Amino acid sequence: MDADITIIGAGVIGLAIASELAESNLSLYILEKNETHGMGISSRNSEVIHAGIYYPPGSLKAQLCVEGREILYETCVKNSIPHMKRGKLIIATTEKEMGKVERLMHNALHNGVSSVSLLTQSEIRQKEPNIKAFGALYSPDTGILSAHSLMDYYLCSAKRKGAEIVYGTQVVGIERDTAGYRIVTLNRDGEYFEFISERVINAAGLQSDIIARMVGKDYTLHYCKGDYFSINAAKRGLVQRLVYPVPEENHVGLGVHLTLDLQGRMKLGPDATYTDKVEEYRVDASKRDLFYESAVRFLPFIRKGDIVPDMSGIRPKLQGYGKGFHDFVISEDLPGFINLVGIESPGLTAAPAIARHVKRILKSVSSH
Ligand SMILES: Cc1cc2nc3c(=O)[nH]c(=O)nc-3n(C[C@H](O)[C@H](O)[C@H](O)COP(=O)(O)OP(=O)(O)OC[C@H]3O[C@@H](n4cnc5c(N)ncnc54)[C@H](O)[C@@H]3O)c2cc1C
Repeated sequence: MDADITIIGAGVIGLAIASELAESNLSLYILEKNETHGMGISSRNSEVIHAGIYYPPGSLKAQLCVEGREILYETCVKNSIPHMKRGKLIIATTEKEMGKVERLMHNALHNGVSSVSLLTQSEIRQKEPNIKAFGALYSPDTGILSAHSLMDYYLCSAKRKGAEIVYGTQVVGIERDTAGYRIVTLNRDGEYFEFISERVINAAGLQSDIIARMVGKDYTLHYCKGDYFSINAAKRGLVQRLVYPVPEENHVGLGVHLTLDLQGRMKLGPDATYTDKVEEYRVDASKRDLFYESAVRFLPFIRKGDIVPDMSGIRPKLQGYGKGFHDFVISEDLPGFINLVGIESPGLTAAPAIARHVKRILKSVSSH
């Protein structure tokens, strides 16, 4: 046996799992095709610690978001990982939208997010005098964090317990073997290498469906791009909390919203556009009018000239355009082989809870 556990992918999910599973008496390897960790989805997102408001009660997204959020805050405090519990408003811009806000409130309570409350127009004005809203759902437990610092922490913690990470190494083939799985890799010098791993965790993000197909499990990911525009620094400080409109009905995205980073910079986005190009991150500057029109409804201080194209990220969705909710897939599809597919938002928030979930699955495997 060459490895006890192999994790494919060094994004926040693979690294959180490595940190959870690593033990000094286990040989655990993390394989990453890029030159360093965290260059995929995990470095192209809003860095929001979600409270768990939107997802259907009982779904993995709901459970793991709520559990993950609590663990994340604890981990951040204990290990000095930069974060801020900024709070978030989901706003109704008209009286008609209040029904949707109230439905979200009920959903949040069902998910165990008990800190949410409804705000009237004047209560909103006291908290955020520069936004325009009819009413809002207030979530004090929503926050932001440095995703890179979190990933660095997970990697250090895994390495301290004996895990090894190998960069520039792409998994190109997997075959079942009597002793586990024969993994074939290709490195940056064009050299192939193969070894046997008793257990395999597929945390390959946008390529997790390709890895799953190597062992005959048929998932198809749809790529859904989110563009961001940044707001002129002169407007910094006008809003203190994250501000979201009520979400779109189609389960695609959360609507163009206002996020803040740890330095207080304001960004709009992400929007949601299905694409067939994976890892193509050019921001479509022609969307400026659309972003402006969506945002000026609740951020009346914005001028069109204030917003410029920023970054983008790509969601690995299991549902195609116009299809309903789809949960995370975290499944032991073959003995000792766990696929994590469709780990879109709230994957960053849920990462530590996903890692514990994977550990529980592996424990139940070894006990039967
Ligand atoms: C626009 C956007 C905004 C988001 N905002 C939030 C948010 O605010 N809050 C939140 O909780 N979640 C958010 N998310 C979701 C969150 O970012 C993801 O769920 C999470 O980062 C997924 O991490 P991952 O490790 O699965 O994927 P990745 O970070 O992509 O890691 C997968 C890794 O696998 C590697 N890999 C792929 N194929 C191979 C191979 N064959 N061999 C070796 N390595 C391979 C890749 O190079 C990559 O490094 C957002 C997502 C998007 C797209």
